[in-house]
This record gives sequence, structure tokens and C-alpha cells, in this order.
Amino acid sequence: MDPKFLDADGIEDSFSTLNADGMASIYFQCSPDNDGTYHPGDNFKITAICGDSSHVSGITTTWKKMRIEYDCFSGCDLPDTAWWVMERIYKGENLSCFGSLDNDRNPYIEVNKSLAMRSDVSITPIVIDTTVATLSDFRQTYRNNSEKYPLYLVAADTLKDFPYALGLTWTPADNITNKVSFVFVQSIYNRYFTLHSLDSIDLRIGCTAAHELGHFAAYLHDTTGALGYEHFSLNCLMVYRNFTEILTEPRFCDSCVYHFRGNPKKRGPIIF
Ligand SMILES: [Zn+2]
Ligand SMILES: [Zn+2]
Repeated sequence: MDPKFLDADGIEDSFSTLNADGMASIYFQCSPDNDGTYHPGDNFKITAICGDSSHVSGITTTWKKMRIEYDCFSGCDLPDTAWWVMERIYKGENLSCFGSLDNDRNPYIEVNKSLAMRSDVSITPIVIDTTVATLSDFRQTYRNNSEKYPLYLVAADTLKDFPYALGLTWTPADNITNKVSFVFVQSIYNRYFTLHSLDSIDLRIGCTAAHELGHFAAYLHDTTGALGYEHFSLNCLMVYRNFTEILTEPRFCDSCVYHFRGNPKKRGPIIF
């Protein structure tokens, strides 16, 4: 019988077998199927043990893919620069030199425009406020394909009564995996247009989207303390008060990367 490799929850996640030359081959089975279950983004080393001897493999890297259903209000389409910066944040790349950050700062998540499904590309702006009625109604009306695209991002104009809100991620009580992340594009322009160049504002739009998707994908918190957890660094993209100062190297802190990588299921149902 082939040996089985079980993870901490007793789920089979890899197996070994002998190839035609009688050499052992080890296969990772990171999820039971290819859809809808946990797909890790991480860097692994595999240790093979035989009797008293063991051998450690080189680093094997797996990447998560962030499949996003993307809707936008008319005139609020996310600029290419915003997608560009989201891609780099989730790849763990440093914006100023385009180099890779330390491996342990890398969420190993691929996000880009081509993985996104654009379903409603020009919604006539409607009033979004923080009431459950508005948010669940919005989701009911515009959400198309939560199975293939588990993340849902909406570029909207402004949040009613909160013109300074840059983004919002709503978690319905009845269905925790079917959230909505809004980026309030018009509010971001209104807040920064006297201070910054258009390009820099577009970067902020991308940082806001990356932040909101952090709430959505891995239950990351803005706060520390009772309601949240300790962020490793206050320069973390999830710590809102520093959000505007970190554009040279927007990234998630070690605690947030930890939640993205090995342990998202400790914080809620698996989203992608
Ligand atoms: Zn937030
Ligand atoms: Zn953090």
C-alpha cells in the first residue's frame, strides 16, 4: 500500500508511489479537487524519511489564484494602475525596485485583470449605504457567478453618509463566504486630487482594493486588540491609519501573510 501523508486535520494531502525505475515519487495533493476548495499559496520543503535517513527537497512553491467577479459603476472603472499595484502587492513585490521581498513576506497570490470576470461593466450609480437591505439587495441583483469567481469586487462612487470611506467589505450574517468588497473610487479622487498626481491616486485605488480583498479573502482586520489581532507592523496595508503613507512599498505584515498562506481556515470558511 502506498504511504499516505496526512495534514494536521487528518486530510490526505500527498502520496508516494514507485515509478518505472523503482524510484519513489512523491505527489502533493493540495486539495481534493480543483474547484471550490483550499488551494495553498506557500513555499514548502518536503522531507522524505526512510529508516534513519532523510532527505529534504528544494523549495516547492504553490500560488493561489484570486478569481474575482468584478462590477463597476459607470465612470468608476478601476484604472490599469490599480490592477497593476494589486498584482504586485499580492505577489509580494516591492514597487520601487520591482524585486521580490523576502520569501516570508510573500502571500503567494496571483491577482490580475485577466483572472477577473467583468460582469456588470457600467452600473448606473445607485445609492450604497451601510444598511443590510442595500448591501444584500445589491449582491442579489448584481452577483453572477460566485462558484467560479469566489471574490466579488465592486468599483462604486461614494458611500452614502460616509464620503471619506475609501472602501467597505460587507459580510452577510447568513452567508459568510458571499461577501461584497466595494472600492469608492470617486471618494478616493475627491480626497486626494488636490494633493497628489492622478497616477498616485490610481495607486491608492489599487491599495484600497487590495485592502478590501484582504478582508474578504482571509478575514484580515483593520484593528488590533480585542476585535482584531496584532499586526506585525503598523506599516501593514490593513492598518488604515498608515494606509496613505506606505505607497512606496504597500504590503501586508507578517501576521496578515500568515493568515493568507498556511492558516486561512482557522479564521473562517475557505474562500479560495
Ligand atoms: Zn478595512
Ligand atoms: Zn497586518
